[in-house]
Amino acid sequence: MSESTAAFLYLVSGVLFILALRGLSHPTTSRQGNLMGMVGMAIAVLTTLFLAEPSFGGLLLIVVGIAIGGTAGAVIARRIAMTAMPQLVAAFHSLVGLAAVMVAAAALYAPESMGIGTVGAIHGQALVEMSIGVAIGAITFTGSIIAFLKLDGRMSGKPIMLPSRHAINIALAVLLVVLVVWFAISESHLVFWLIVLVSLALGVLLIVPIGGADMPVVVSMLNSYSGWAAAGIGFTLQNLALIITGALVGSSGAILSYIMCKGMNRSFVSVILGGFGGDSGPAGTQDLGDRTIKQGSAEDAAYLMANAAKVIIVPGYGMAVAQAQHALREMADKLKEAGVEVKYAIHPVAGRMPGHMNVLLAEANVPYDDVFELEDINSEFSQADVAFVIGANDVTNPAARDDKTSPIYGMPILNVDQAQTCLFVKRSLGSGYAGIDNTLFYKDNTMMLLADAKKMVEDIVKALDR
Ligand code: NDP
Repeated sequence: MSESTAAFLYLVSGVLFILALRGLSHPTTSRQGNLMGMVGMAIAVLTTLFLAEPSFGGLLLIVVGIAIGGTAGAVIARRIAMTAMPQLVAAFHSLVGLAAVMVAAAALYAPESMGIGTVGAIHGQALVEMSIGVAIGAITFTGSIIAFLKLDGRMSGKPIMLPSRHAINIALAVLLVVLVVWFAISESHLVFWLIVLVSLALGVLLIVPIGGADMPVVVSMLNSYSGWAAAGIGFTLQNLALIITGALVGSSGAILSYIMCKGMNRSFVSVILGGFGGDSGPAGTQDLGDRTIKQGSAEDAAYLMANAAKVIIVPGYGMAVAQAQHALREMADKLKEAGVEVKYAIHPVAGRMPGHMNVLLAEANVPYDDVFELEDINSEFSQADVAFVIGANDVTNPAARDDKTSPIYGMPILNVDQAQTCLFVKRSLGSGYAGIDNTLFYKDNTMMLLADAKKMVEDIVKALDR
């Protein structure tokens, strides 16, 4: 295949990736967007294969690699629970980082095969690209592993604050710059591996101080890093498709991080500096002190909602755990049949990944027109008879709005406490992901429905039928 044909086909795949991103920005067009992304990727892979014209042995290795990786990916994707998606995404990002390190090492030891010079005489520009790519890749690798461990509960979600951590991080960053320059001048293999080591350490140190509540931003930030690492490999391999794809992932991840920061009213710098949020309190172990809660049953909830004019449903992480979305839609359908106006309110960081709730509601065929973002619906809670909070906690916590001393102060919340009655479905009085007590449970207009979300909603549906 000629270079110009390949360049044209890479451009086509680049355009398809952009259309894919555009499609993914709305639930109605997301399947189409996914399809475009897949076609774009197929074109990019086939073009690279035809352009490189590998030997039979090389082709065999590639096919075996695709078969092993593809099978593993397909099996994992089929088996993974929706609630475990964020940690899966973090684990995948770590592999992108590792791949960047491996490709850079391959380029260092066999530069001829990549057309960037010979051992001891690699082009200066390629050395700079390689060293920056490998640094971002190694930071992404260990950073994503720490994010995976935190999200999967294998490591405490609490910020781990090392003494003088800012000074250590700045010193390591300066050292990294010095090593990159040294490597570009010397092409020393030892310096290359020193860059890898320092970057691996930096990846760990950057992510361990970040607490549970800031994890959404970290996930999308690592997504962005993995894109820039891929773009770095693209420069080393002189592969246009990889540069375009990497830049698209890098910039869309950066934009998502910005949106997440805005959703939590946090500045990007304060997220990077870390220390926000803590461990989830173990369910049901909270000391009530002299505070009391009003507890209700499925029948009470059914009665209140059937007699309401307007109900706003607020889903959160617990709905995903319980897989209550189908039962929830059935409940909403019954209420609508009875003439109740039903809407869904989605907080930008509800659940454990961006768009988590939208995906679950779409899976249950909830009409898109019934689903509203925080800024579009927040003013309506004061006119609602019932706010039905199902498995959400942090995103409703009034401390974020009213308590200046709260660590989550400033994060916009869904104003469920302004509804006439707030029904709260969860299993205990335990805290949410940020590990912060929710005073809403003890308010006069709150009724706690303490049960598994799916079981409670199924019981409400039965009660509505009676
Ligand atoms: P929270 O984590 O604040 O609360 C979820 C609640 O669901 C828990 O308090 C839990 O209470 C309840 N729950 C769990 N399982 C069940 C079940 N089977 N049935 C009923 N209830 C259940 O969730 P939110 O969605 O309100 O907030 C999201 C949090 O996650 C935010 O702090 C956000 O920063 C963070 N986060 C968000 C990410 C994103 O990208 N969206 C990524 C990573 C973190 P109980 O145990 O008592 O049942």
